[in-house]
Amino acid sequence: MIKKYMTFQKSNGIAPYIWTILCILPFYFIFQAPTTVQIVVGLLLTLSFFILYRIAFISKGWLVYVWTLILIAISITATSLFSYVYFAFFLAYFLGNIKDRIAFLTLYFIHLLSTSVSINYSIVMQEKLFLQQLPFVIIVWISVILLPFSIHNKKERDQLEEKLEDANKRIGELVKLEERQRIARDLHDTLGQKLSMIGLKSDLARKLITKDPEQARNELKEVQETARTALSEVRKMVSSMRGIRLKEELHRIKEILNAAQIDLEIKGDFSLSNVSLFIENILSMCLKEAVNNVVKHSGAKNCCISINQSENGIELSIRDNGKFKGSDGHLAEGHGLIGMKERLEFINGSLDIETSEGTALNIKVPNVQKPRHNQEETE
Ligand code: ATP
Ligand code: MG
Repeated sequence: MIKKYMTFQKSNGIAPYIWTILCILPFYFIFQAPTTVQIVVGLLLTLSFFILYRIAFISKGWLVYVWTLILIAISITATSLFSYVYFAFFLAYFLGNIKDRIAFLTLYFIHLLSTSVSINYSIVMQEKLFLQQLPFVIIVWISVILLPFSIHNKKERDQLEEKLEDANKRIGELVKLEERQRIARDLHDTLGQKLSMIGLKSDLARKLITKDPEQARNELKEVQETARTALSEVRKMVSSMRGIRLKEELHRIKEILNAAQIDLEIKGDFSLSNVSLFIENILSMCLKEAVNNVVKHSGAKNCCISINQSENGIELSIRDNGKFKGSDGHLAEGHGLIGMKERLEFINGSLDIETSEGTALNIKVPNVQKPRHNQEETE
């Protein structure tokens, strides 16, 4: 309990004491009034001021204007009847808390004008009690000018800081999401492919086990090797994003198509010149996924992969003589084709799918002239 009180004191400073004095002070002024009627009026005014002050804090819309104007009227009456000017201080604090800029400015000027007029009126009327506390009156008047703006600006700054914090949190979440998507794509393209190869090879081994046990043993050995490679690939992927050259990828593809008993025809030179490792890596991933799809879905006997590098860019095409199994929307079903498209879009490339005779994926990547030293850096 004492601890709580100490923390409250630390965070609020002397403000609670000032507010307590300001709440008791009106009664000191009221009880100096000459008649009982004036005292009763003073008490009623003070009571209504505090009740309306509380209501004004929780009101919204046009009601804020109504309550504030009534509060200003009470403050003027208290100044002229009892020389009590300190309600203006309460009002200055309240105005600083109004969020709407137009309402804030309108009420601020009304309050400033009315307080200035009532102070001047009391000075002109030579109110004795009023003149006695003139230094405090000047402090209140300065507060009426400065306090609303300082509170209003502080509130705005706090809000901006809150928004900035929110935006930073959202950016953090987006970065995480992007990273998660990248990992999902990589898992699909590396581990997914290896697992499907294991599936194919073990299927083949199962068929061969009675017919040709020796060949079946070889296939199972390859299954074991592929599983080992998959494991090491996952390890490498976890530590860093791997860069794979198209030529290296072609070797693996030959193996897969061979295992699936699909004839492969290769056209063009896969040793690309003046192409960044990043672009080549994306092309490798696309090639891997396209071939994976041929094996998984097409039921083709033949697959033709061609590449052409020209001044305009690189054209890579993967064609099979099977049957396209997807819907008209092509990209709707799995992650493979979507991932391919996303990666290509990232390097301004495009993916075009033909499904009239078998399936043909036409990939185009425009040429980006790469300065020689940059290439060396990336590689
Ligand atoms: P995942 O990519 O997760 O392995 P997927 O291979 O089914 O799943 P996509 O690679 O996006 O997903 O392919 C979408 C669909 O298009 C496939 O489900 C398949 O029906 C069809 N498809 C894609 N490539 C071929 C192809 N070469 N031959 C026949 N159908 C294909
Ligand atoms: Mg796929």
